[in-house]
Amino acid sequence: MRMTGYDVVVVGAGVAGLIAALRSARSGRTVLVLDEADEPGGCVRFHRVGGLDLDRGAESFATARPAVAALAAQLALPVEAPLARTAWIYHRAGPAPIPAATLLGIPAHPAAADVRRVIGWPGAARAALDRLLPPGRAPQGLGELVRARLGSRVLNRLVAPVVAGVYSADPAGLDTEAVAPGLLHALGEAGSLTGAVQRLRGSGSPAGSAVAGISGGMGLLSRALAAAVEQAGGEIRCGARVSGLARAADGWAVAVRPPASEPAPGASGIAKGSEPRTASYPVETILADSAVVAIPAAGAAPLIVQATDGAVALPTTPATDVLIATLVVDEPLLDEAPRGTGLLVAPDVTDVAAKALTHATAKWAFLARRAGPHRHVLRLSYGRGGATPADSDFPDLALHDAARLLGVPLARRQLGDAATVRYSGQLAARRADQRAALERIPVQLQRFPGLALCGSAIAGTGLGAVVTNAATTPIGDVPPLGAGSNHDEQ
Ligand SMILES: Cc1cc2nc3c(=O)[nH]c(=O)nc-3n(C[C@H](O)[C@H](O)[C@H](O)COP(=O)(O)OP(=O)(O)OC[C@H]3O[C@@H](n4cnc5c(N)ncnc54)[C@H](O)[C@@H]3O)c2cc1C
Repeated sequence: MRMTGYDVVVVGAGVAGLIAALRSARSGRTVLVLDEADEPGGCVRFHRVGGLDLDRGAESFATARPAVAALAAQLALPVEAPLARTAWIYHRAGPAPIPAATLLGIPAHPAAADVRRVIGWPGAARAALDRLLPPGRAPQGLGELVRARLGSRVLNRLVAPVVAGVYSADPAGLDTEAVAPGLLHALGEAGSLTGAVQRLRGSGSPAGSAVAGISGGMGLLSRALAAAVEQAGGEIRCGARVSGLARAADGWAVAVRPPASEPAPGASGIAKGSEPRTASYPVETILADSAVVAIPAAGAAPLIVQATDGAVALPTTPATDVLIATLVVDEPLLDEAPRGTGLLVAPDVTDVAAKALTHATAKWAFLARRAGPHRHVLRLSYGRGGATPADSDFPDLALHDAARLLGVPLARRQLGDAATVRYSGQLAARRADQRAALERIPVQLQRFPGLALCGSAIAGTGLGAVVTNAATTPIGDVPPLGAGSNHDEQ
């Protein structure tokens, strides 16, 4: 067993871990970041498809919170708005543009023509009751709230596809405050849900205006963060899986192994049986004054339980599996962006397996320039009902779904390149019934000096929430990001 020491060890080199590491390194701490993957970035990374660096996970960020744009500015990364095209919804009756004045699919004006095109007159009539119902006590989950005030057509045809596309989650039980900050407060003030949406949106801004990207791709954010960590003297070690975290005499002992999927050295001689293959590895123990856990909840929960001798229990949600299929196709009929920036698929649709499609070259000007004439990048996500198709279904399933969704024939002969990426457990939207428990965690962790938790495990899904959280999570007396350390001049 080898032992080495650092001021701060960060578990996980996603955006959250990198921010925690940057803050620590810039305040003069010796820092080591450990990640089991082969490169830093977590859900915010590139892969190369058709000769293009394309985002394999997050491809934009919500601008409702200022943190991501502020971070990009600090890292001198140019923020780019999506092209002013609308996104569409594909529901049982066919495709329709997402109504202009909506928030997470909740309409500000249920009788507007673009809303009626999706929910019909019966849906609009039911949604109009929202203005007559007393504000009362809002139900806990977003789905319950929308159903109670606006009816099931608005829930199923507008809100469910948007929430599934953005959060890979069912709106039932979803923490409204986490996904739509300020909505419940505005409901109390406006007296109706549609009135609340009107207030939050202001007037007249087009649907989709609430997100932005980084010119060149979101993967640049992780690359710039990793470079900044190293420039500030921090170390990032990939291919290092943290398997244990315990209190040591003067701080924390972090147990590290190579990732489970990697064949063990000399593995051919290992006896078969129930013992995991990684058991043959020597565990390296790294000592640190502070340990920051910045991995998804499924992995963070056991580490926090171990580190606190069971005193702190992190709530977890069952893992949501997601598959992203990327197609690079040559098809002039797509030049006109027939479905704007892409489509979200309603849960009751049966002729398409995907739950969303992003026409990336119709959404991002930088990508359209890079791809060149008549070349298009299509990104489809799968995981409806919690199940993802088999690898052998691709690329044909994605071509079929893209053709159906976009209304343009697509076959293998138009395909330049394709790739799939699977995610398991990274998308864990905060549930309303977890709010109280999650809010208690930072208070409970105060009893364990030097132990910190940040990122999606505590903040929920989405870069806005994750960056805000990682920039301010207490790590000893390390200052928050942007608070007087020497990075402001960058
Ligand atoms: C497909 C997809 C699309 C998304 N799209 C968007 C979007 O468009 N906009 C948006 O705002 N958000 C989006 N998100 C969500 C957003 O990307 C995440 O919420 C955010 O990046 C989480 O950052 P994080 O640092 O907390 O965790 P992660 O990015 O999950 O990073 C955690 C890191 O920890 C490492 N790790 C895990 N376990 C261990 C261990 N035991 N030891 C060592 N290392 C470990 C992992 O390898 C990983 O690098 C998307 C997520 C996915 C999966």
